[in-house]
Amino acid sequence: MERRRGFSPAVDFWDLDEEKACETPGTKNAEPSKDCLINFLLWDMDCILESGSQIINFGPKSPFHPSNSPTFMIRPYLLKEANWKSLKTFRYDLAVLPWGATEAHNYHMPYGTDIFEADAISEEGARKAWEKGSKVVVLPTLPFGVNTGQSDIYLDINLNPSTQLIILSDIIEVLNRQGLKKMLIVNSHGGNNFQPMLRELGLKFPEMMLFTCNWFQALDKSKYFEESGDHADEMETALIQYLHPELLLPLEEAGDGAEKKSVIRGIREKWAWAERKWSQVTEDTGIGNPKKATAEKGKRYFDDVTDKVSELIADICSAQPGELYR
Ligand SMILES: [Zn+2]
Repeated sequence: MERRRGFSPAVDFWDLDEEKACETPGTKNAEPSKDCLINFLLWDMDCILESGSQIINFGPKSPFHPSNSPTFMIRPYLLKEANWKSLKTFRYDLAVLPWGATEAHNYHMPYGTDIFEADAISEEGARKAWEKGSKVVVLPTLPFGVNTGQSDIYLDINLNPSTQLIILSDIIEVLNRQGLKKMLIVNSHGGNNFQPMLRELGLKFPEMMLFTCNWFQALDKSKYFEESGDHADEMETALIQYLHPELLLPLEEAGDGAEKKSVIRGIREKWAWAERKWSQVTEDTGIGNPKKATAEKGKRYFDDVTDKVSELIADICSAQPGELYR
């Protein structure tokens, strides 16, 4: 099958054997006309041609350019893999912004644990949603989170909330200006709190539909894991055992993630709050015992949590402003 090139960038996406239907009788091997190709695309690909701007809005199942590798397809729902050849004409409905942190995770897990989790959960959630028709794009993961309570832990990199607000505002300004009016933060770190920022930015960008989610709260962890915890615990250890086993030290190297409780009753009861002084709360930087983690538990949780994230993505993609409640 010959791949024809040389029309609009969009036309390059497919093997155009159907174009034979457009050939004028008696002109075998003639190049099809541009109008003919656009008609074919409109007919077959559920496209919208915006007159004047010449933007073609393809359905999400359309393949983008294949890569040069025989075994790898560029994943069109990941901005870091997409190219201008495709994005000159393609338009998404929702941008997903994964946001992690760079911090110690007990003795046995990598500093990038929250980044690896944000990457994998956003990408797999988006893949599942894309394959069901959602036009979603995952932006590159932001690697630094709020680590104000861990200033004495070596190379825990802190971004202040006020800095995060500026970064978010700049990213949303781009999306808003370019007509990508829905954004979802997939937050991977408990110290990040985007709700007050999205309240403020919602006033600044009233046309934007802004969402945030904490994937680690999407499921009842007790149905997957024996030990509770909230940092470098059994759940996080199991996820990295499944996603990146090459980056883990053996579990014998891990601390037990024991947590000292506050002397203040209201804080123990969780209706009062003060930032935890991390190095006073835990010896090994973990909170939650990781010792019973297995890759099988991690896979089961990953499969289910990415189902939840993909459902959220699909719901947001299909939600219409003004029709959000019933
Ligand atoms: Zn973590």
